[in-house]
Amino acid sequence: MKYIGAHVSSSGGVFNAPLNAKEIGAKAFAMFLKNQRQWVVRPYQDLEIKKFQENLKSSGISSKHVLPHDSYLINLGNPDLEKRLKSLDAFLDEVQRCEQLSLELLNFHPGSHLRLIDEEKCLDLIADCMNATLEKTQGVTLVIENTAGQGSNLGYKFEHLAYLINKSIDKKRVGVCIDTCHMFAAGYDIRDKKSYEKTWQEFERVVGFKYLKGMHLNDAKSTFESRLDRHQSIGKGNIGLEAFKLIMQDQRMDDIPLILETIDPELWAEEIRLLYSFV
Ligand SMILES: [Zn+2]
Ligand SMILES: [Zn+2]
Repeated sequence: MKYIGAHVSSSGGVFNAPLNAKEIGAKAFAMFLKNQRQWVVRPYQDLEIKKFQENLKSSGISSKHVLPHDSYLINLGNPDLEKRLKSLDAFLDEVQRCEQLSLELLNFHPGSHLRLIDEEKCLDLIADCMNATLEKTQGVTLVIENTAGQGSNLGYKFEHLAYLINKSIDKKRVGVCIDTCHMFAAGYDIRDKKSYEKTWQEFERVVGFKYLKGMHLNDAKSTFESRLDRHQSIGKGNIGLEAFKLIMQDQRMDDIPLILETIDPELWAEEIRLLYSFV
């Protein structure tokens, strides 16, 4: 089974996200756990948690198919100790919010070296932050997203994801989310059957499908290997429809949240229908 949805709004409260997902015919969704432009937000109140559970139940979506996204302010690889600890605090808060909502996954971008330290040193800092968080929490899997490699962002190579998994103290609670736009911009082609198979074979060899906990389905305004993070609506970008047909027919992507982060929310319901028509 395929579980397709979108990164829906949680404005007005996280409990609105499942309702927004249901409205577009989604069987999965992503959301922010709090205002993603603020460092500190008050904790959830009991009533908010209860409303979230009720709305999730009425949406018919399983908690397994909810893939919350952390704040873009967080950089677990920040070379500056004080700034990194601020990020770690905020990251821990995000994971604790997942615990409060009984959600199992948290999607995050690994981090950036800001051209101050080398890639490996930065990956070590990120791994340390992940481990500190794993020690203080339970039941939530940290889902590392691959990136386009824009600026000094790490995670644009499968090897970066594998490095973080290997350094993790609890491999049962780490996973990856592969964003199709990011992979394409980073130089992993999936545009036709041949390139698609080659890229996923490499993924299996370097990372392993057992760690694939979700995907972001985005076409790309960015060109191949451009290292630019520019999403586009499905079928309207440089990746094209064929790749999404192949994903829909690929059992390796069964039973995980498949999330649209395409640029026009007005098209999400239609994009979800289109993708299901390929299954
Ligand atoms: Zn993404
Ligand atoms: Zn992106």
